Amino acid sequence: MIDCHTHLQPHGQQPPMTRERIEQYVAVARGRGLTQIAFTEHLFRFREAFDLLYGWWDADPDPALAHLARQYWEDHVSGSVAEYVRTIEAAKRDGLPVLLGLEMDWIPGHAGALARFLAPYDWDIVLGSVHYIGAFGFDDEQFAAEWDRRETAAVWADYGALVRDLAESGLVDALAHPDLPKVFGHRPRDETPLHDAILSGAAVHGTAVELNSNGLRKCGEIYPALPLLERARRLGLPITLASDAHTPERVGEHFDRLAGWARSAGYEEAVAFIGRRRQPYALPG
Ligand SMILES: [Zn+2]
Ligand SMILES: [Zn+2]
Repeated sequence: MIDCHTHLQPHGQQPPMTRERIEQYVAVARGRGLTQIAFTEHLFRFREAFDLLYGWWDADPDPALAHLARQYWEDHVSGSVAEYVRTIEAAKRDGLPVLLGLEMDWIPGHAGALARFLAPYDWDIVLGSVHYIGAFGFDDEQFAAEWDRRETAAVWADYGALVRDLAESGLVDALAHPDLPKVFGHRPRDETPLHDAILSGAAVHGTAVELNSNGLRKCGEIYPALPLLERARRLGLPITLASDAHTPERVGEHFDRLAGWARSAGYEEAVAFIGRRRQPYALPG
C-alpha cells in the first residue's frame, strides 16, 4: 500500500524539512509494509503561495474571521516551495521510496494563481482540500464558535459547493478528507447532498476520492463515510489511501482499516499517482 498524504511539519511547529526527517517517515512506512509515501505539504507552508494569494481572506465580509485566517496563514509559512521540491527530489534520486506532492487549498476566485504556483514543478500528486468556507476555517478549533452561529446543513452545503468547484477545476488528482465537516461531530440529518456535490465534481475529471485514517483519530470515523464510498465505486472513481500524518509515527496508520473500508464499498484496488498518472495496485485482503 502507498500512503498518499503526509506532512513533514506538525501544526504549530516548524521542524526543518531535512533528509533525516524524511528518513524517519520512510522507516515507519517500511515497518508497516508500505512500499511508498507521498509528502504532500500544505500550500500555506510556502512563502511563494503566501505572496501569490495574500489577502484572499478579505473576501469574507466578517473581519474577525478574516483576521483569524490571515493569522493562521502568517503563522504557518515556514519555507520555500522551491527548496521543498529540491529536498524531496534529492531523496527520490537517492532511491528513497518517496513521492513529491502538495496539499492544495482551494481558494475560490484564485484558480489562476494556484495553477501558476503548481506550474514550475514535477509533482507526483496534488491533493485538493477545502479547509475554509470564506475565511471560516471550519476544521480548526480556533474557529469553533463560528460553528454555533451557523446551521450545520448550511455549512455542509457551502463546503460541498467548494469541493465541487475544486474538482471541476481539474487542478488536483485526489480530493483529500472528502467529508471533513464531520471533524467536530456536526453532522446534518441528511448527508446525501454533500455526497452528491462531491461525486458530481469528481466525475468530471475522474478525480480520486481519498480514504483518510486521520478521521478515526479526529471523529471516530474514516473520511469519507461509507455511503459516499459505495457511490464512488459505482461511478468507477479511483481511491487513494492516506494517513494525513504530520509526524513520522502516524505514517500508514490504520491502513488495514482503510483497506477494509474500501473493500466493504466494493473496491479491490487503490491508486497512487506518479508524475500525476494513476498507478493502480491491489488492496490486501
Ligand atoms: Zn487537510
Ligand atoms: Zn493533510
